[in-house]
Amino acid sequence: MSVLVFAENWEGRFKKSTYEAVSYAAEIARQLNTSCTAVVIGAVSEEDKKGLGKYGATKVLSVANDKLKNLEAGVYTHILGDAAKSVGATHVVISFTYTGKAIAPRLSVRLKAGLVSGAIALPTSLSPFTVRKKCYSGKGLTDVVISSEIKMVAITPNSYKVNTGGADAAVEVFSPAIPDGEFKVVSKEVKKTSGKIALTEAELVVSAGRGMKGPENWGMIEQLAEALGAATACSKPVADMGWRPHHEHVGQTGITIGPNLYIAIGISGAIQHLAGVSSSKVIVVINSDKEAPFFKAADYGIVGDAFSVVPQLVEAVKKLKAAHN
Ligand SMILES: Cc1cc2nc3c(=O)[nH]c(=O)nc-3n(C[C@H](O)[C@H](O)[C@H](O)COP(=O)(O)OP(=O)(O)OC[C@H]3O[C@@H](n4cnc5c(N)ncnc54)[C@H](O)[C@@H]3O)c2cc1C
Repeated sequence: MSVLVFAENWEGRFKKSTYEAVSYAAEIARQLNTSCTAVVIGAVSEEDKKGLGKYGATKVLSVANDKLKNLEAGVYTHILGDAAKSVGATHVVISFTYTGKAIAPRLSVRLKAGLVSGAIALPTSLSPFTVRKKCYSGKGLTDVVISSEIKMVAITPNSYKVNTGGADAAVEVFSPAIPDGEFKVVSKEVKKTSGKIALTEAELVVSAGRGMKGPENWGMIEQLAEALGAATACSKPVADMGWRPHHEHVGQTGITIGPNLYIAIGISGAIQHLAGVSSSKVIVVINSDKEAPFFKAADYGIVGDAFSVVPQLVEAVKKLKAAHN
């Protein structure tokens, strides 16, 4: 019996969601009285690999392959499947990120493992192995029991805390034989957004909807996000109309996020929108209509015209920051 966790990195750096996944896997290992092994694929510094021990990994399997330039879900699945077999993993943890979503179902098939995707907490029971996730677009919770020999959990970012305190992990090179035929993806062009905070990773999110009237009014939204150090998001119609890029669209048909703070400006709060943001720890709603449904889901609300409230908020945040510097 042992626990395996995929320690995802982006261009050689671990994300916060990676530390959450390792902490989560290590806690399951602790409860099962067994060890936690992390798998790192790609060029990450030795120090960072060892450092996964701080979050509870006892061992790190380090995989480097010259052919692996970008994410190849099939190849990653092959590597993680072999790693799971080599350590006799009975439990496998992966982050429910874009990468995790591409790998988890494939790995589940390969390992014949039951998978709970989008888990939001530690297992409520280890035997039978039961994990909680959201259902009905976030309106309900369901406890899923996995009865297969190997159990897999894809944990939602920002839903489990980062635990620290462990010692350095032992790093071992792991070189599974990957048949050439497994490399199927040809990357012709990689377009990167730079200098922005990734929405899925963000702890603070400033989001706006159709109440902003048009794309020309997004300057104040960006100013607020910049002042707070937040990522920007939007409602579906805003992305559909091309006011904002599609990667900012949150909700049932967009990205699901769970930041510490979600500020919704000029968004009505339709159920499909709430489905993607209701895991936020604190929700602040700014809307000119006091009957807007979003206020029912809000921790704090401001009834007012965004065009007057947001600039005042930007000034207030800047003043506060200046006072603390
Ligand atoms: C199958 C399906 C899936 C969907 N998936 C999603 C999804 O993933 N994400 C999503 O967002 N939507 C989704 N929708 C659409 C959803 O139902 C709503 O239509 C949408 O969320 C509304 O966007 P909005 O709040 O920006 O616009 P509106 O509903 O038009 O609301 C605008 C809000 O701005 C307020 N406002 C206006 N002027 C001001 C002002 N000056 N200051 C402050 N407030 C102001 C208004 O009072 C209003 O509440 C989906 C719909 C369907 C049918």
